[in-house]
Amino acid sequence: MRKWIVRIGLGVVAVMMIGAVSSYLFIDRELTRMYGGLTEPANPVVADAGTRDYALVNVSVLAPEGDRFLPDRIVVIRDGQIRAIGNTTTSPGEIPTLDGRGMYLVPGFTDSHVHLWESENDLLLYVANGVTQVRDMNSLPVNLRWRDEIEEGRIGPDIFAVAPQFATFGPMEGAFVGWVQHKTIVRTADQVDAAVKDYVAEGYDALKASSYLDRDGYIALSAAAAEHNIPLVGHLPMAIGLEDLWASNQSEVAHVEEFVKALDREFGGYSADTAEDFLAFVRERSDGVADRMIAHDISVTSTLELVDSFHRQKFDLNTELTAAKLTYENPGISEGTIITSRGMGWLPQVNIYRWPEGLDAERQARSRLYWQAYAEAQHILFEAFLARGVPILAGTDANVPVRVPGFSLHEEMEALQAAGMSPAEILASATTLPAKFMASGTGEIAEGRKANLVLLRDNPLKDIGATESIEMVIVGGRALDRQDLDALLDSVRTANDNSRTVPIPVAE
Ligand SMILES: [Zn+2]
Repeated sequence: MRKWIVRIGLGVVAVMMIGAVSSYLFIDRELTRMYGGLTEPANPVVADAGTRDYALVNVSVLAPEGDRFLPDRIVVIRDGQIRAIGNTTTSPGEIPTLDGRGMYLVPGFTDSHVHLWESENDLLLYVANGVTQVRDMNSLPVNLRWRDEIEEGRIGPDIFAVAPQFATFGPMEGAFVGWVQHKTIVRTADQVDAAVKDYVAEGYDALKASSYLDRDGYIALSAAAAEHNIPLVGHLPMAIGLEDLWASNQSEVAHVEEFVKALDREFGGYSADTAEDFLAFVRERSDGVADRMIAHDISVTSTLELVDSFHRQKFDLNTELTAAKLTYENPGISEGTIITSRGMGWLPQVNIYRWPEGLDAERQARSRLYWQAYAEAQHILFEAFLARGVPILAGTDANVPVRVPGFSLHEEMEALQAAGMSPAEILASATTLPAKFMASGTGEIAEGRKANLVLLRDNPLKDIGATESIEMVIVGGRALDRQDLDALLDSVRTANDNSRTVPIPVAE
């Protein structure tokens, strides 16, 4: 009898263990799919001339000041570097030439806020859109590997890898959040120090505060960043105020939106009823915030288009999805998953910004007022930052709905122009300023710089929309012409179509 009880007991335990292991494996695979890791890798056929030594001739080159083009220049590129810039009377020597007559050469663009996750085809989307550098705001070991492979010649943008963002949660929730969202879960200063030490040793380029880091954790993270001489970037945790930011070593804030949230906390939390009062409060505070940013040498990343899209995604998601270049978005990411309570994805059933089901008309109207005020507050802050001269980095939050990698930077640059930035300022926000922030040796067309360049048919100083008229992208010295770039895009579209399990909305 006793023997049977033991046997049945062991049987039950075995079944439970098999159940636990298989649910773990199921969820883990679902997460890999959601982060894009199961999408077929694109396989582009690119004509590679095999040479990295050539000269671009007869081309207009963006001056280092970024405010004008210098006509009829020769740019000599050897071993992935800009070796010489001359006027047309200079002989390029015995190397092949590429004719840039009538065209405009600018530094490759940087998107200062992206999420690569496990979506490797994104590397091709960035290059095809002239984005030769990205700052990945929550890097994983696989992204460090891509970074190294790109340095060795794989086609892709330079990657500035920010370590998984720091957050504070209790043990149970922390284990889940750390697993599902790839966050660094910390509860004590010692845990912060240990994680920072590991990330520095693993070769990450910066540390990131999340919205969910507690105040002690933030202070510890700031101290560890200074100790290891590594930048601290990211969100303003909900547990801190602006005084904590000014006292910290944080050198960048990842969204203009973060200041909307910080001022909302100072205001005491606005609602649809108090939206006008809140906006008046933001107007009153915005210049002072901008001045402190400058005093503490803190940059801000724009992500205007993302935040402007919140109420549009809530109100008219289908129009937003149809307008987005969804054929290029990793279907794993856009299809998301329902294993977390609200879903994580772009499409209607899983869109992270969608309204809860069954919201009545009155609550919809109030929600719309709230989110429109939210977007307006970011514009008030943006205008103050721009007017006072805060360094603004162009960034998009690519792979967050509905920002498609590569394409989203051009949309952001249009949004920056609409918000009052001049084309020269926008080019700086996507080239010289991020290059300086990331010390990447790019961002300027000058001798000794890495040859990450974009050749445009139209003049971007006249209208920033010209950044889309891409004729050639040079990345790590490798020249990809329009045909090559189209091959990159086609290969990603094909891979996505082969991997898609849910149809995407298309224009009527
Ligand atoms: Zn982000």
